[in-house]
Amino acid sequence: MSDQAHKIRLIMELRRSGITDTQVLSAVERVPRELFVPDTFGDRAYDNIALPIDQGQTISQPYVVAYMTQVLELFPRAKVLEIGTGSGYQAAVLSPLCRRVFTVERFRSLSRRAEERFRALGLTNIVTRVGDGMLGWPEQAPFDRIMVTAAAADEVPQALKEQLRDNGGILVVPVGDGVAQEIVKVRRNGDTFEESRMLPVRFVPLVKGVAEEKR
Ligand code: SAH
Repeated sequence: MSDQAHKIRLIMELRRSGITDTQVLSAVERVPRELFVPDTFGDRAYDNIALPIDQGQTISQPYVVAYMTQVLELFPRAKVLEIGTGSGYQAAVLSPLCRRVFTVERFRSLSRRAEERFRALGLTNIVTRVGDGMLGWPEQAPFDRIMVTAAAADEVPQALKEQLRDNGGILVVPVGDGVAQEIVKVRRNGDTFEESRMLPVRFVPLVKGVAEEKR
């Protein structure tokens, strides 16, 4: 089967699994996932599974990417913060659905590689930073939407809640330990943070601080 045929099969699978937002489906359809996975997994790029990337991290399962994107209720003027750039795939899916994506990664090598992909694909509304995403991106706050793509151990990081726009800002984040995580959706109105539990998931952990890497 060709990449295109695989991709159509994946989109149909996402629809059947409850991804009803046509804008989200077309964003997934536009992003060539084969460019975000290691070459050795090229033939599995359109399987609905998470795959390993460098530094022991993972590119999320397409269903989870689509689900979290749908839950974020994006709009064309939205300013979005993503924590955990990884391969850059999730940021690339967000890109056509909002005004600007600010994405933070603690591994410099992953951030660089993702940035190259954004450039190659002409995704000029994505801005990258190497840093500790648990601290958010204070200079750019507030954000209309925040998505965390690594699991917070026990609660939603306070700095991220504070950087959420206070009239209807939405944050999605997996919360929980290694075995029992759930996507939590937080909606902010003033000082009220309304939390709902959405979907059981399995993400790599959110880790404090910038990563030490050999050059
Ligand atoms: N959104 C990514 C998923 C990557 S996996 C994609 O589409 O490919 C989660 C990523 O979060 C990993 O790359 C990991 O290094 C990063 N991460 C974990 N803790 C972090 C932190 N405190 N700040 C920034 N990035 C973090």
